Amino acid sequence: MEKHGGVKFDTKFIGKAVPDDPRLEVLKFWCGEFHRRNFAPPYGEFSQGNLSFRLKEGENAFIITGSQVGWKDRLSDDKFVIVTGCDLSEGVVYAAGLRDPSSESMMHFAIYQRRSDIQAVFHGHSREVLSCPDKLAIRETREKRPYGSLELVESVLEILDQEMFVVLKKHGFISMGKTMREAGELAIRIHRMCEALKDEKRAEG
Ligand SMILES: [Zn+2]
Repeated sequence: MEKHGGVKFDTKFIGKAVPDDPRLEVLKFWCGEFHRRNFAPPYGEFSQGNLSFRLKEGENAFIITGSQVGWKDRLSDDKFVIVTGCDLSEGVVYAAGLRDPSSESMMHFAIYQRRSDIQAVFHGHSREVLSCPDKLAIRETREKRPYGSLELVESVLEILDQEMFVVLKKHGFISMGKTMREAGELAIRIHRMCEALKDEKRAEG
């Protein structure tokens, strides 16, 4: 599994304001859940995975975890960034905040742009989930692509369709929802099913 190690796009800052939105507390709650459930595994002082929610229906701006902000169980407001837009062809992300937005910001943007029904995008890493797409008929990207790349974005759009949960081959998963709660609970539910399958296999074996 590739480790996340910083952004690969250019960030153009349009402001330094720290997100000030009551929904940030909900996003923090789910960051904490992802940490506790090991969907955002720490490596050293950083952790993998990135979570966002759409600011306003009908627009593509969102609030997302910053890049390399540390473990996700105790993030302060300034560790979150507003992404107002992306130029995917140029690899530019427009943001407001004090940090680089998550390395997967282009992927989040592309999903919000493609799917107006989705209000939350949670990306996590989980060995259990990676090993079970076939068994649960979960859609999976065709090939492993480098994290943070446009190739990865394209590989997701290729299979996204109307799915609410997809697996990034040999990398992680994306759980989506009409609310943050939906996206978070879906990730937990699928992870549980994958774990149960693994236990079954062990019992048989
Ligand atoms: Zn990842």
